[in-house]
Amino acid sequence: VRAAPLPRVLRTAPLAHHRSFSSSLSRPDALNAIVTGSARGIGKAIALRLARDGYNVCINDIPANEAGAQEVSKEIESMGRKSCVAIADVSDYSQVEQMVQTSVKQIGPLNTMIANAGIAQVKPLLDLTSEDFERMFRINVFGVQNCYKAGALQLISQNNCTQEQPGKMLAAASIVAFKPFALLSHYSSSKWAVRGLTQAYAMEMAEHNITVNAYAPGIVGTAMWDLIDEELGKKKGAKKGETIAKYSGELIALGRVSVPEDVAKLVSFLASRDSDYITGQTQVVDGGIVMT
Ligand code: NAD
Repeated sequence: VRAAPLPRVLRTAPLAHHRSFSSSLSRPDALNAIVTGSARGIGKAIALRLARDGYNVCINDIPANEAGAQEVSKEIESMGRKSCVAIADVSDYSQVEQMVQTSVKQIGPLNTMIANAGIAQVKPLLDLTSEDFERMFRINVFGVQNCYKAGALQLISQNNCTQEQPGKMLAAASIVAFKPFALLSHYSSSKWAVRGLTQAYAMEMAEHNITVNAYAPGIVGTAMWDLIDEELGKKKGAKKGETIAKYSGELIALGRVSVPEDVAKLVSFLASRDSDYITGQTQVVDGGIVMT
């Protein structure tokens, strides 16, 4: 009886590609990353962390946050890395294509696409309009889809993704894609969609040696959480800061709200060579709110 042919990944010679384990994460020399929504918050922390890891980084944001984007970019240059700013609305595919081209021209061939940009809104179902829903999905879902597509096309066209050095694509999901939170239905469903896209594209991109993963933060002290806190407070009759205090006391096992750098540490790992065998995952980084 003849054995069935092995699937593609088993037919290659992974042992030849094995590297010895090291105590620290493998750091690449001059790899190039795009981080969307990186003028502030989690995106900024990711961009600075990747620069510290050795990456050149293209900073993206919308026109309203261009000044912040320029500052982050200068900070990265002061660390001896290349950086550029590509102002683009991720919900518009042609702008995302343009962003990728700017990045390739200014800092070099793409290795890592990080679709971090997103928005949140607190609204009960009974008040939710189609416009609210559409805006949420345009930025949080189409935005990720646009980055995955333009990123994948660029990575494939460069012909430089191998099993030893896969291309990496990552996106921001959230714990709301694991656990229901009242008043965040459209935000929550947009992040479920990010999980879904991530799994489907991980399957499709494997043959191109590109891994696709998402990170799911919990409660991170950024402008976005300030907005959620304020809106939740209004709806629940709580003062500013009270909902976050309640959540950290009752919901977060580690007992503290997270800082953007907590998320950046996970992204640093997911972008590194040490995560090469991980794909299709949405990794939670929440101090123990949801335990998957
Ligand atoms: P933030 O609001 O502080 O920063 C988001 C950045 O994205 C801003 O600079 C904003 O201008 C930019 N942005 C918004 N729309 C854009 C668009 N259309 N094109 C390009 N840029 C755009 O938010 P954050 O807390 O840093 O969140 C970053 C990501 O992490 C988001 O996807 C968010 O949903 C996710 N997240 C945040 C939390 C949290 O508690 N803060 C929790 C879970 C997930």
